[in-house]
Amino acid sequence: MVEQSVPADSVSALRESALAAAGVRGIFTNLIDGKSVGARNNLDVLDPATGELLAKVPDIERDGMDAAFAAARRAFSSWSKLTWEARRSILEKAFENVKAHREELVTLLMAEGGRPRSLALWEVAAVLDDFAPGVLAQSLPDVEATQPGVGRVTRHYAPLGVVVAISPWNLPLLLSYDKVVPALIAGNTVVLKPSFYTPLTVLRVAELVRDILPAGILNVVTGGDNVGPWMTSHPEADKISFTGSTQTGRRVFESASQTLKHLTLELGGNDAGIVLPDVDVDAVIAPIFWGMFLVNGQGCITIKRLLVHESRYDEVAAALSKFAGEQVMGDGFDPATTIGPIQNRAQLLRLQATWAAIQKDGVAVLYRGEEIEGKGNFFPVTILDNPSPHADYVKLENFGPLRSLIKYSTIDEALAIANSTDYGLGGSVWGRDPAELDAVAHRMEAGTVWINQHLVVNPSVPFGGNKDSGFGVQYGAEGLKEYCYLRVISAKT
Ligand code: NAD
Repeated sequence: MVEQSVPADSVSALRESALAAAGVRGIFTNLIDGKSVGARNNLDVLDPATGELLAKVPDIERDGMDAAFAAARRAFSSWSKLTWEARRSILEKAFENVKAHREELVTLLMAEGGRPRSLALWEVAAVLDDFAPGVLAQSLPDVEATQPGVGRVTRHYAPLGVVVAISPWNLPLLLSYDKVVPALIAGNTVVLKPSFYTPLTVLRVAELVRDILPAGILNVVTGGDNVGPWMTSHPEADKISFTGSTQTGRRVFESASQTLKHLTLELGGNDAGIVLPDVDVDAVIAPIFWGMFLVNGQGCITIKRLLVHESRYDEVAAALSKFAGEQVMGDGFDPATTIGPIQNRAQLLRLQATWAAIQKDGVAVLYRGEEIEGKGNFFPVTILDNPSPHADYVKLENFGPLRSLIKYSTIDEALAIANSTDYGLGGSVWGRDPAELDAVAHRMEAGTVWINQHLVVNPSVPFGGNKDSGFGVQYGAEGLKEYCYLRVISAKT
C-alpha cells in the first residue's frame, strides 16, 4: 500500500507527539550493577532526518567502565552456576517486560535510526519475536561417549566469563541483543556498548530489564572513542563479540591479543548478487532491490554489486530503475517514506566523497534519485551503470544507497568478479535452474550464499564471514558454542 505524504509541519508534529509518548527527550542512563547511572559528561544523540538534538547519553569515564567489569565479574560466579532452565526462565521474564513496551522501542528506533516505521517495526520484531525466543530455546547439553582406550568422555560447554559486546549503528537493537541473549543463556555476564550514534533503544531495553535480571549480569555503557579500546583491552574481559567495520575489527584484534581474549569478529562486506540468464525478472526485482537497499543500503549483507548476464542486463536495469523511482526518500516519520536518511553525518560525508570520485571518473549512472536539501543526512539512491569492477568505489564497501550494476558474459567471469574483493560476508545467485544455482553458490567465497533470496538471517542458522569480513559465527548451535569453552571430562572406566 502506498501511503500519502504529509506536509513538513505535519511530519514534525507526528515526530514530536511520538517522541513525547515514548519519553525520548532528556538524558538516558547506563546500566551498571543493576543500577541506572549517569556520568559527569554526556554525549549528544542527533536525529539523522533533521540534524536536531534527540537526547543525551553518558560519556562514561574509566572508573565507571571498571565498575561495570567488576560487577560483571562478581555476577558471573552465581549466574554461571544456575542451570540453563533457571537462566532461561529469568531471561524470558525480562523479555516479557520488553515486549510490553514494543511501540516505544519502535519510535526510538525510528528517531535515532532515521527509519520508516515499517523498518523499525521489523527490527524490533526480529529481536523480540524471532532472535530472543529462538536463542532462548537453545541449549548445549553435555555429550557423552565411550572411547575405547580412554574411557567415558564427556564434552561439556562451560561459559567463558565476562563477554564484551560491541555493536554498530546500522541495526543497533538486533546487533546488540543478538550477542547479549546467547552470551547470557550460556552462563556468561556481559558489558555491552552500542554505537554512540544509536544508543537510545539499546539503553531503554536495558532499563526495562534492570529490575528483573540479577544485578551485574548485563551492564550497558555508552561513551566516546576511548571506550571501545578500554573494553577490548580490559583485563576482566574474557571474550569479545564485535560487529563493525573491518578497519575497527583489526584494532579490536590487536587490542585483544595481549590477553588472548576469545574473539568473534563480524565485519564489513561487499556482497555480490549474480543474476543468471534464465532469471524471472518480474519475480526477483523486489527482493533484489530490497537486498540492495534495505536500511538505505547501510547493511553489511546488502547486495553491493549486482552482476547481470549480458543477455538480461538491459531488462534488469530498466526494472531496477523503475522500482527505485517508485521509492520515497525522506523523514521516517512521514508515512509515505520508504527509505530514510543516512544515519550519521560522518557516513554521509564518506558517501559524498565517493560520489565525487565517481563523477571525476565520468562513470555512467543508471539511476540517481533527487537531492534533498536541509539539515538531514540525505544521499539519493544511486545505481552505477556497468562501472569497472576493479575501481575502488566498486571494490570497497559502500555503506549507503550507492550500488553497481555490472555486466558479465560467462559464469567464470561473474564468479571472478564476485570473489575479487577482500570481503567474504554474503552473496546470492538468482535464476531458475536448481542445479545451476547450486553449482554457482558453491563457488562463491562467502560465509553465507543465498539462492533466490538475500539478507535472510535466522537464530537457528549460523552466520559469519570469510576473508576480511571476519571470523567466528553467530546464531545456531555453532554461534552459541562461541560463548563457551569446551571442557572435556575424561573418566577411566
Ligand atoms: P565501526 O567499526 O566504526 O564501529 C562499530 C563499533 O565499534 C561502534 O560501537 C564503535 O563505537 C566501536 N569502536 C570504534 N572504535 C573502536 C575501537 N578502537 N575498539 C573497539 N570498539 C571501537 O562500524 P560502524 O560504522 O558503527 O558500522 C558499520 C560497519 O559495520 C560496516 O563496515 C558494516 O559492514 C559492519 N557491519 C558488519 C556486520 C556483520 O554482521 N558482519 C553487521 C552490521 C554492520
